[in-house]
Amino acid sequence: MRLQTRAVHALPQADPAWGATIPPVYLSASFAYVDPETLARVFQGREPGFIYSRIGNPTVALFEQAFTRIVEARGAVATSSGMAAITAVIFALAQAGDAVAVSSSLFGGTLSLFSRLVARCGIEVRLFDPLLPEQLESVLDDAVRFVFLEVIGNPRLDVPDIPLLANLAHAKGVPLVADCTLAPPGMFDPRRWGVDVAVHSLTKYITGNGTVVGGLVVDTGVFDWTAFPGSAVQEAVGKAGEAAFLYVLRREIVQDMGMSPSPIHALFHYLGLETLGLRVRQHCENAQALASFLARHPRVREVRYPGLEDDPSYPVASRLFEGGRYGGLLTFSLADREECFRLIRALRLPRTLANLGDAATLIIHPASTIYHERTEEERAGAGVHEGLLRVSVGIEESADLIEDFSRALEVLSKE
Ligand SMILES: *Cc1c(COP(=O)(O)O)cnc(C)c1O
Repeated sequence: MRLQTRAVHALPQADPAWGATIPPVYLSASFAYVDPETLARVFQGREPGFIYSRIGNPTVALFEQAFTRIVEARGAVATSSGMAAITAVIFALAQAGDAVAVSSSLFGGTLSLFSRLVARCGIEVRLFDPLLPEQLESVLDDAVRFVFLEVIGNPRLDVPDIPLLANLAHAKGVPLVADCTLAPPGMFDPRRWGVDVAVHSLTKYITGNGTVVGGLVVDTGVFDWTAFPGSAVQEAVGKAGEAAFLYVLRREIVQDMGMSPSPIHALFHYLGLETLGLRVRQHCENAQALASFLARHPRVREVRYPGLEDDPSYPVASRLFEGGRYGGLLTFSLADREECFRLIRALRLPRTLANLGDAATLIIHPASTIYHERTEEERAGAGVHEGLLRVSVGIEESADLIEDFSRALEVLSKE
């Protein structure tokens, strides 16, 4: 079966009690048992069951199960946000005294997490440029517990040679962790390219309608955790075997740090999964069409989109991504901030807000918003300048989007 078919049929029995076809929402903080012996057995893991919704909840479990089946992974753990998912991975794999190798082309929130909190916890953060494999090689030694990167760096929109970097990590016995938020199922299969742990912000494409915030950690099933040097996972191998990483994530990090999602949010995430394949296709087709239009427009200086043949990321992206899909995010440049603001005001369809992966097209001026507190050097590293605009292309009809951009660019010339 193919992805979109699996997505619709992931839970043939979502509700054995009454036959509901969609996961029932179990809005209950805790779960009662008729006798103390049963509760004790559930606590001791000798009988399946739920205890308390911070530790586990049936609706959340159904969403995790559905996702695991759709992408054919070893297992998945849902969290309250994408940032919580990344935090959970870091603390499951590393502790004070360890080091981690982290791409320098990252989402701003992730870069802050690594450079402030993680560094303060005594974990040494070693940055490398994901387009320069020799930089990763030079920071990898026995202290490093994992390699972290984004499949498509945001907002530089660069695509690293993931299988090559995975091989470097595996040669040192450590996993490759990839934030796959911008390259969701339907365009990129992390298992095929050596990604051991996939992280998603569910807030974006997977839920897909801009409703709720959420995150997910997926164990793709590639990595042999029994040989992993990190101490928390080592200790869990006796109890959980090859599921040791998932065990530490769920029973130590998410449970103890209180990162679990609401069951209502899990329902929204599940509903997004059913249409994910269709939406990803439409986002990518529209982004390709809009990128090609902008690249030909005389007012537009530079367009970055991995699906444009002259884009530096095109060769790698064409190898790693499926179905001629290159994602829904693009950036382009105008003369300066003033012109960017005028264009945003002239556009009718795109909303201007800080999110991506919504059904609607979104546009933002990164330098004055997401990057307003960053130094000039950090901005340059992320490819952000005063004339840059970032567009998250939605699932409208592409002809309407192109008409709107075309008209708004005309307005710029007239004013
Ligand atoms: C949004 C985003 C995150 C953070 O996810 P939240 O759900 O907002 O916590 C992490 N990585 C990437 C690439 C993102 O776009």
